[in-house]
Amino acid sequence: MKPCLQDFSFEELSFITEWGFPRFRVEQVYNAAIQYKSYDNISNLPKALIEKLKENFADRGLEIIKTLSSKDGTEKYLYRLNDGNIIEGVFMPHGYGDTLCVSTQVGCRMGCEFCASGLGGLVRNLTAGEILSQVLCVNALKGGTAAKRAITNIVLMGSGEPLDNFDNTVKFLRLISDERGINISLRNISLSTCGLVPRIIELADMDLPVTLTISLHAPSDKKRTALMPINKAHNLFSVIEAAKYYFEKTKRRIIFEYSFVEGENSDTDSAKQLAALVKGLPCHINLINLNFVEEKGLRGVSAAQIKEFMRILDENNVSNTLRRSMGNDIEGACGQLRNKFAENKNG
Ligand code: SAH
Repeated sequence: MKPCLQDFSFEELSFITEWGFPRFRVEQVYNAAIQYKSYDNISNLPKALIEKLKENFADRGLEIIKTLSSKDGTEKYLYRLNDGNIIEGVFMPHGYGDTLCVSTQVGCRMGCEFCASGLGGLVRNLTAGEILSQVLCVNALKGGTAAKRAITNIVLMGSGEPLDNFDNTVKFLRLISDERGINISLRNISLSTCGLVPRIIELADMDLPVTLTISLHAPSDKKRTALMPINKAHNLFSVIEAAKYYFEKTKRRIIFEYSFVEGENSDTDSAKQLAALVKGLPCHINLINLNFVEEKGLRGVSAAQIKEFMRILDENNVSNTLRRSMGNDIEGACGQLRNKFAENKNG
């Protein structure tokens, strides 16, 4: 598969001058890539340059092949990558700006019990340009430009584990926050991880102040290992230590994700254990009732159970909110994004 133009930073595109074209052509190609133009729609470049680009690179990393619209304004997209793989993304309109949920891998190898994204294992990592293309594609679709963005917030919460595709994710963060490009502030980006501890430490040392979101989902090693196999490699203690380190380095409050799974993590003891676990760490807990994933047979809990859980957190001064789930009717909610590759291949 050829790289796409979005894979390159402004500096990296300087090979265009090495091809013998003047410097200002670099800027034109870069701007066309940010505007997500197809080769056919770039009108300001000489034919010889377009031909040379076409030979070596795809004009874009992906295209939307299907859009599903939810009653609540959420939209789910199926994107086709240039090698035929299919990934998904979700657009969520909010009062304060519009958020795009972005995928970092085709599939996932973390194997969390409650999540649809890992059902077929990991197919491959996305390149930085493919991750960026999701943002540029939807920005263009919504009538946005680089100067007037239609997307203001990004959550790396689609399919895949961003820190398992570390280099491409970090490159994506640099590309998306480049002032010459779409320039979305790192402060408006949340990176969600299942807790790859060494990578969290590495990220903390990189001076990329994204909001770190950690999928916790259970307050003890026993309960967490039952839901998330990664807990065997990096236990809760090490995850909390890494979260503390991230906070110390970036001064950004940590967000923990906690999905209620019936019979696993939603009793009052769990609430108390959770409060004790995060004590003293500046953090917020995003609670969410499990979205049903058919293949897994796991369910969420009752409103009364959630209320009691939240009461205990409040009582212990642990900041928390219950996230309303968006896009359930289009399987666009958390954990419902899956790799459609197999279905696609089988027609
Ligand atoms: N791999 C990263 C990114 C995925 S983000 C991570 O683990 O954080 C998606 C979020 O949705 C994670 O917090 C994940 O644990 C959560 N999630 C997965 N399946 C879910 C489900 N069925 N219901 C609710 N949340 C779910």
